Amino acid sequence: MFEKVLIANRGEIAVRIIRACRELGIRCVAVYSTADKNALHAQIADEAICIGPANTKDSYLNSQALLAACEITGSDAVHPGFGFLSENADFARQCNKCGITFIGPSPESIEMLGDKATAKETMKKAGVPVIPGSDGAVKNIDDAKMIANEIGYPILVKASAGGGGRGIRLVEKESDLESRFIAAKQEAKSFFGDDGVYLEKFIINPRHVEIQVVADKHGNVVHLGERDCSMQRRNQKVLEESPSPIMTEELREKMGEAAVKAAKACGYYNVGTIEFLVDKNLDFYFMEMNTRIQVEHPVTEFVTGIDLVKTQLKIASDEVLSFTQDDVKIIGHSIECRINAENPSMGFRPSPGKIIALHTPGGPGIRMDSAAYQGYIIPPYYDSMIAKLIVYAPTREDAIMKMRWALSEFIVEGVDTNIDFQLDLIKNPSFESGEYDIGFLDRLMKK
Ligand code: ADP
Ligand code: ADP
Ligand code: MG
Repeated sequence: MFEKVLIANRGEIAVRIIRACRELGIRCVAVYSTADKNALHAQIADEAICIGPANTKDSYLNSQALLAACEITGSDAVHPGFGFLSENADFARQCNKCGITFIGPSPESIEMLGDKATAKETMKKAGVPVIPGSDGAVKNIDDAKMIANEIGYPILVKASAGGGGRGIRLVEKESDLESRFIAAKQEAKSFFGDDGVYLEKFIINPRHVEIQVVADKHGNVVHLGERDCSMQRRNQKVLEESPSPIMTEELREKMGEAAVKAAKACGYYNVGTIEFLVDKNLDFYFMEMNTRIQVEHPVTEFVTGIDLVKTQLKIASDEVLSFTQDDVKIIGHSIECRINAENPSMGFRPSPGKIIALHTPGGPGIRMDSAAYQGYIIPPYYDSMIAKLIVYAPTREDAIMKMRWALSEFIVEGVDTNIDFQLDLIKNPSFESGEYDIGFLDRLMKK
């Protein structure tokens, strides 16, 4: 096992990783930007080192500064968390070249799966069902018109290098194709530095159901069931749960099998998530694979009893998985609410600033993953997510009840939050009945 791990991230995920390291007896190094001098992760790690100014490009995305920090502190591995450099193949390659283990899959896997058009082709070849669409990237508008007519409208234009819901455009009729095609290309270029786009059939009102996989470096691949992430606002996840309300034993087995096949098709190791869309007939289609720990991993940890971050550290240090598919049992129900410093009544405008008072919920089956504390000043430069509230109970009904009271107990003063918004959502009859799809929240907001 590693002696010292550097955590190339901030916020609640950095804190989560520090805790996992501690439990495994690993020393940990936090990195921070000048804006994060007083951040929790920088205070609770064994060592903390400043890597640059507030701007992410010069700090959390600055691979040279991170590698130098590894050198100075004598770290033997890097955990990238999510976002930032977690899906950057070049960074993974640079780490490995310097003899520092990148805690994640191989640079080759990241590269292949990071290009969504290439990933889709690989999955199709491996026999994993994919959403009908173009074979790879589309060169020009003439090709796009031809392919769109073959697929049939509505279609989506999607950035090959996309992530975080960016670079996606819906096209309902041919007359809109050219302008949206160009818009998607431009957004892709500015966000990801790559203007490659591909076309995909737009699936109407599907659910987003993703399968968690874990794979060691010795060829063992196991899936840990699903997470339903259909509660989304503008393609971004708001609340997640496991199991999915639509799941059956049979469907889980089929999707799990497809996910394991997908991971094996690209020689994958470490933890990963295969995102699928599921339609009304319970047919499912591969959408993308995320080659990192996910924000919503705690719901899977609750229902399986498996610590995913510790598992990442063990896999990266070449250990063999300590469990098989038969050992994995999905028990109970878990729900996660993402708590953001934002104002829902003002278009979800971010609300940075000082947390004057903080009371967090507790009790059996309640977990708080957060880097917030009383007196903490949320900087304006980063993600607005300040906490994840996760509950666990024997049934979905019990979990909803628990979340309801946990949210009611949660007090944050000084900044605006979406706590009341989440509380309304939890009480919504469509959520309670489990009958919601990826368009539910956007439709609700329009009313
Ligand atoms: P999940 O919630 O499933 O882990 P998200 O798509 O919400 O995945 O992304 C997790 C975090 O990573 C978010 O903070 C998001 O903004 C960021 N992110 C995702 N993809 C990219 C990308 N390609 N470039 C930069 N940031 C990204
Ligand atoms: P990102 O890499 O930005 O997360 P995804 O490919 O995962 O992009 O798509 C983001 C979200 O957009 C999905 O969770 C889903 O809600 C929606 N979406 C993606 N593809 C389709 C599709 N073909 N039909 C309908 N909705 C889709
Ligand atoms: Mg996605």
